Amino acid sequence: STFQQLGLDANLLQAITDLGFETPSEVQQKAIPTLLESERDLVALAQTGTGKTAAFGFPMLQKIDVNSRTTQGLILSPTRELCLQITNEMKLYGKYLNGLNVTAIYGGSSITEQARQVKRGAQIIVATPGRMKDMISRNLVDITKIQYAVLDEADEMLNMGFYDDINDILKDTPVDKSTWLFSATMPKEVARIAKDFMSNPLEVTV
Ligand code: AMP
Repeated sequence: STFQQLGLDANLLQAITDLGFETPSEVQQKAIPTLLESERDLVALAQTGTGKTAAFGFPMLQKIDVNSRTTQGLILSPTRELCLQITNEMKLYGKYLNGLNVTAIYGGSSITEQARQVKRGAQIIVATPGRMKDMISRNLVDITKIQYAVLDEADEMLNMGFYDDINDILKDTPVDKSTWLFSATMPKEVARIAKDFMSNPLEVTV
């Protein structure tokens, strides 16, 4: 299939053309149409390099309201490097969305500066769990109106000991949001997160 057939808006298709993406990858073909059409949860078994960032990124970008400054999408990721990489990709994918603000939140860097970025009105926050929890507890970020939550590299986040942080963060988000979980493997800790925080998810394996 083609990107046009997945149901993406023209401004996202233009960014895809600019990036030189010709064909949607398998995880993109399997996830994007359903995520666009429904508010279903998703569990995807997918490794890095499969195009998973775009598989959750494009649907999130299409669904959020860039005219609002409310934080609507939260992407949790295990490391600072991945956070910055995802933030960068999201900005490229959303380059034709006027007013889009994607902000990265991660440890080892000024919390004051990150809080300032959030305050400017970030529709999408890409965060590591530890710093995210810290900012929530200091009331520097409001995720109570999140509509889309992504757990990227869920197995890695749990390996790094972020279970409690993820648990606490998700408890602070609306129950009726959609949750999209991506993981290279499905150990029982990941299955537990899926069971605790998701209902009847679409399952995709690539
Ligand atoms: P990811 O698995 O999300 O880390 O993506 C791996 C790399 O593939 C990134 O550099 C993306 O920009 C690129 N990419 C994602 N989707 C496609 C596609 N459909 N065609 C070509 N490259 C892609």
